Amino acid sequence: MAEKLTPFEIMRQLISFPTVSSESNLPLIDWVESYLASHGITSHRYSDPDQPKAALFAHVGPQIDGAVVMSGHTDVVPVVGQDWDSDPFTVVERDGKYFGRGTCDMKGFDALAIWALVEAQNLDLVRPLQLALSYDEEIGCIGAPPMIQAMQSILPKGSAVIVGEPSMMLAVTGHKGGLAFDTHVIGFEVHSSLMHTGVSAIMQGARLIDWANHRNAENMAREPGALAAQFTPPWTTCHVGMIEGGTAHNITAKDCHFAMAFRVVPGEDARTWREAYLAEIKRIEAEMQVVHADARIDVSTKFDVPALMPEQHGEAEALVRSITGDNGSHVVSYSTEAGQFQQAGYSAVVCGPGDIAQAHQPNEYVSIAQFNAGHDFMQHLLQRLVG
Ligand SMILES: [Zn+2]
Repeated sequence: MAEKLTPFEIMRQLISFPTVSSESNLPLIDWVESYLASHGITSHRYSDPDQPKAALFAHVGPQIDGAVVMSGHTDVVPVVGQDWDSDPFTVVERDGKYFGRGTCDMKGFDALAIWALVEAQNLDLVRPLQLALSYDEEIGCIGAPPMIQAMQSILPKGSAVIVGEPSMMLAVTGHKGGLAFDTHVIGFEVHSSLMHTGVSAIMQGARLIDWANHRNAENMAREPGALAAQFTPPWTTCHVGMIEGGTAHNITAKDCHFAMAFRVVPGEDARTWREAYLAEIKRIEAEMQVVHADARIDVSTKFDVPALMPEQHGEAEALVRSITGDNGSHVVSYSTEAGQFQQAGYSAVVCGPGDIAQAHQPNEYVSIAQFNAGHDFMQHLLQRLVG
């Protein structure tokens, strides 16, 4: 039997692969696959049809439904432009912390999950354990849905999913949904002295952005429902994080591109927000076309991640609470793959080592105490699975 690595050694290995979302994750997936194979575990891949990336999933224990699923993503955010004190892709231990890109978000958890799966292989499980490693999470959770579909057709169906995003090992039972659009306003160029005969893509785009300002003000002023009230802020937000367009100060802008994103509180339907935004686009587009027939607004969905709805007596939540002893109620305003697992029929909860405040930062780290708490958690989880 091959050598067993510690969780730390596995994390160090995972972090050595610079799996920024724009790059292939196949070297990492190859490594995980062969490490699991060296311990007699068969893994399966979902390979992306359009790019050199794959998700990996595996099942250990009796071939029955009801597995606990440990879910993590393999991609990390870029390090370009960030000021790091050490190589982001080499784990460095300093001041009680492990530094490296992904230590916190979320290769630390991935390593613990891989470790637990290998341990489980040598135990006599009564309840199976599954591992699910996705890609393209950091660019809008777009890798998980096809992976979940593939898992369901190949493995016995799991029932409780633990998504190990950094939560300080607390049970996070709800999060907002994310809905984002790329909007391209196409105007009609004229000399700005004759602007009444042209269509400025920028000025029309500004109307759509101001529509978002009004929605934010309305949402903020409204009394939140019981579900929404748990969130900070307790309302759906509409945000434009990027904009570009125009040619010169004296030309009505031909093009304006911007990124519009909604963070939708559970209990509100993202489809309603989509329809409201598209209706406003139609309204403004019609006015633009009165001036020039070729003016238009193109919009495409960048991502659409369902919210995680707090579950009534949720199985995943109960399992995590029984291990951590945490009975507080925790919700977050960022999206994770937990909403997607829930939508696919699983009970889902977010629980993993580290603090989201350290994610995506230069000198990202997970504290050794948190990493060890994650290790303890996995040991207790394994005890639950042997009955
Ligand atoms: Zn993450």
